[in-house]
Amino acid sequence: MIRRACIGVPLLLVLAAHFALAQSPGAEKTLVVMLGTGTPLPDPARSGPATAIVTNETAYLVDAGTGIVRRAAAARDKGLKALEPTNLRIAFLTHLHADHTLGLPDLMITPWIMGRKEPLELYGPEGTQAMVNHILAAYSVDREIRTEGLEHSNNTGWKVNVHEIKPGVVFEDANVTVTAFAVRHGNVNAYGYRFATHDRTIVLSGDTSPTDAIAENCHGCDILISEAYTKASFDLVPAEWQKYRLTFHTSAQELGAIAAKAKPGLLILYHRGNAGCDQARTEECREAGSEAQLLREVRQAYSGKVVGAHDLEIY
Ligand SMILES: [Zn+2]
Ligand SMILES: [Zn+2]
Repeated sequence: MIRRACIGVPLLLVLAAHFALAQSPGAEKTLVVMLGTGTPLPDPARSGPATAIVTNETAYLVDAGTGIVRRAAAARDKGLKALEPTNLRIAFLTHLHADHTLGLPDLMITPWIMGRKEPLELYGPEGTQAMVNHILAAYSVDREIRTEGLEHSNNTGWKVNVHEIKPGVVFEDANVTVTAFAVRHGNVNAYGYRFATHDRTIVLSGDTSPTDAIAENCHGCDILISEAYTKASFDLVPAEWQKYRLTFHTSAQELGAIAAKAKPGLLILYHRGNAGCDQARTEECREAGSEAQLLREVRQAYSGKVVGAHDLEIY
């Protein structure tokens, strides 16, 4: 029942968002589109982590998990033209873990095959350029065939302008100011992002263990999007997985404390990690890491508005 109730509210938000778009196409509300809410777990219902901030008919992507371009096309089919694959031109990576970048070749190549002429503008941590170079090298045969053969693909849209970032303002245009801040994700060079548009401030935690940077950057923001894992599942996994979780991720209880300081208008849960249980694949372990359990635990620690996100929901 809890799960049903949680699904119901975002669907209303989706409808309200569409209504707002239909009413005033010129000055629409900034929207958050959950393209992928998953983790490395190959859950058919959840693509790898990817989020779109859509404002002034322009999409700004955060992370490129598995399935990103297909989920964008599905959002396009719901009426969001900014997520037409050929319009995917600007993306920010929180870090280079595979679950956040397995869709990067897709994001580089598929929109180009569909006709994108502009290079992808890609912001990410140190190492992003090397990753892009390797992907370009891996697909060089395909690129030659498409540009020199009968497909007649353009010779610009496959390119990527990489911007390796440091903490601070990393992007600014007429629609949005994007600030990157360092987070604590074990030994990984990882960032969270803050998006400030004409009407909303949205903060994404990226993957992180507890850090003051989340509350400092949200500070009463409209939306905080965060990862979290459950204490119930933590208690069931072996000590080495517990150590991993403590070093790399945030528990429901820790997130509750962070959100109480950050005071977001809405806390959105995604990337519900269940490391150790995903590998054990027992029913008990799966249940202990369920979305319903995560919401229960976060609500015990936090009295503000919180939802568990699903793919293709719009906030
Ligand atoms: Zn990670
Ligand atoms: Zn991750």
